[in-house]
Amino acid sequence: MRAYAEIARHYLRTNRLPHVWCPGCGDGTVLGAFLRAVDELGLDKDKVAVVSGIGCSSRTPVYVDFNTLHTTHGRPLAFATGIKLARPELTVVTITGDGDCLAIGGNHFIHACRRNIDMTVIIYNNSIYGMTGGQHSPTTPEGAFAATIPYGTTEPPFDACKLAEAAGASFVARGTTYHTRELEKLFVAAIKKKGLSVVEVIQQCPTYYGRYNRMRSPVDMLNWQKENTITVTQAQKLDPEQSRGKIVRGILFERDAPELCENYRKLIERAQAKG
Ligand code: SF4
Ligand code: MG
Repeated sequence: MRAYAEIARHYLRTNRLPHVWCPGCGDGTVLGAFLRAVDELGLDKDKVAVVSGIGCSSRTPVYVDFNTLHTTHGRPLAFATGIKLARPELTVVTITGDGDCLAIGGNHFIHACRRNIDMTVIIYNNSIYGMTGGQHSPTTPEGAFAATIPYGTTEPPFDACKLAEAAGASFVARGTTYHTRELEKLFVAAIKKKGLSVVEVIQQCPTYYGRYNRMRSPVDMLNWQKENTITVTQAQKLDPEQSRGKIVRGILFERDAPELCENYRKLIERAQAKG
């Protein structure tokens, strides 16, 4: 693998920098892990498509030197599905936030999982709408605060990983921006896996989520991730009482199942054979 500085020079559109992210934001950490995963896999830049919706994390395609598409709010999976069906040889990765993917894009998300199309979805979960001023999102934990819920939310949050598994995805994993090496490995495994892969990344938004929830610095937020998450192996060793309230990291679910592009190709072949 290349040195980090070389990876940055090779994969970033440096003429589009500086980026828009706040100091201490987790977005850059996820991007670093993703680029190292691509480098480890030895993927050709021209054979990778990175698609995003709208939001802070969705700015990522602006900065990376792949085939890129910065689309409309909640719709990246519709665009990504079109790209993959038209060009199945490409490695397609969708970058999306918790609001983009699970609120306005929720319907696209469950159907992308159901279709099990061969691509990777990275959900940057900072539990809030960052770009639009700190509104609560479908993953804001019960009792947490945001611009739109000054007394704390009484709504239960979505578990994006359970949703992906139930809807039909082939690979479901969760990482954090504190555990960066783990995250890189999850991205490698997700991209390699045939079918729809979902990686949820718990990440910090110090500007809004941190400020509203009394975590005064990015370091506080990273320490929260360290103290409140456990690996799949640790979870298996603990009884339910000991692991209550802990967020589980690692590969949560994996299966081999028919994939959409392959099924579609077979259908075309059958139809053509019939004349
Ligand atoms: Fe990151 Fe939050 Fe700033 Fe958006 S608002 S760039 S998520 S710290
Ligand atoms: Mg968000």
